[in-house]
Amino acid sequence: MTEYRSEKEFLRSLKRFNALSSKQYEWHTGYSEKEHTCMFGHHIPSEQLYFKKPLDMEGERKVRVCMECMEKLVFLTIDSDRHSKQLSEQLFRERHPTPKKIVKIMSR
Ligand SMILES: [Zn+2]
Repeated sequence: MTEYRSEKEFLRSLKRFNALSSKQYEWHTGYSEKEHTCMFGHHIPSEQLYFKKPLDMEGERKVRVCMECMEKLVFLTIDSDRHSKQLSEQLFRERHPTPKKIVKIMSR
């Protein structure tokens, strides 16, 4: 972790980052026996965690990004300023509305 203090913190921002994409084009973690190349030119060795995103409905075209680049990408897009933070939070909430508190419904 370079940009984030913990994995939890990174995953929180990754969810907000994913809220920018349509659901079928969200980023997923990948793990493969094959070697891949990160979109920013880095080598992704086999059996190392990376991130992938489909570019078409069939999932035939994909982009792959190494862990380090993903962190930077998420940080720059989501956490680099207040506006992008708030906007992505809003998009995330729209997609994942928090369920109403049971207690509130009961006390009506
Ligand atoms: Zn990379």
